[in-house]
Amino acid sequence: MKRLVPVMVAAAVALSACSSAKVTESVPVLTPAPNLTPAVTTTPVPPAATSPTPIPTPAPTPAPVESTPAIKWHPTDIGMPLVSDDPAAKGKKVVMLTFDDGPSPTGTTAKILDILKENNVKAMFFVTGYGAKNRDLLEREFKEGHTIGTHTQTHAYLPDLTVAQMRAEIEPVIKTVTELTGTRPKYFRPPNGAYNAALRGLLKEEGQQLINWSDGSLDWDKLKDGYKDPKLVVDQVMNYIHPGAVVLMHDTHQHTVEALPELIKQIRAAGYEFVVMQ
Ligand SMILES: [Zn+2]
Repeated sequence: MKRLVPVMVAAAVALSACSSAKVTESVPVLTPAPNLTPAVTTTPVPPAATSPTPIPTPAPTPAPVESTPAIKWHPTDIGMPLVSDDPAAKGKKVVMLTFDDGPSPTGTTAKILDILKENNVKAMFFVTGYGAKNRDLLEREFKEGHTIGTHTQTHAYLPDLTVAQMRAEIEPVIKTVTELTGTRPKYFRPPNGAYNAALRGLLKEEGQQLINWSDGSLDWDKLKDGYKDPKLVVDQVMNYIHPGAVVLMHDTHQHTVEALPELIKQIRAAGYEFVVMQ
């Protein structure tokens, strides 16, 4: 169905996500060429402790070098790409994986959580109101260190709604997540990536950062009986990967589960680190 309501959709967005949406073509994101200068991640050496009396012991074995303090990344404008003001971020290539529409009780969300855990990757889950009824899975996402954002109560197409209706879509699922985690979520992804000025105003009022995506996996597109070749999902993401990429997937699809291990492997092989905003 072609929508006539003028809405602003991220240029880089593969137009619309989720299985009900018509998708035409994914648009590559034009980002500056990555800075290929190797990251200098020297750990500052603290000055040796001074002592009034010399210590007659041999030089101690150096303590293990701690990893560089975590670099803070933040979203730009409508959520992507991720950037950092930290000089230590220079030359670093990062990717954030995001999963929409769940949690799903069919087993796909649980399997995705297993794979993320095995690979030590943290991701962002944009949960729906109906998905959040699967409280055990929602709780697991939170306890395993992933960040939970919200994706409306019923997966409504928000530009068609009044502000009051938008609010009724946004607030209940935020409340559910807040009750479960003790922390109010602060990231929001509109269904189909579709937003307008009224929604942006409301999100500001609700303290929500809009997070769209810059690398759509098309795991929702051209499915046959709800399935597609997982290799196509991997290839789609890798074709558009770029520093600061926010990758859109859905934890509601079996082919996404099957694509994920290979995708993680290829993203790392291309020199990227996984990050997630807290
Ligand atoms: Zn969705």
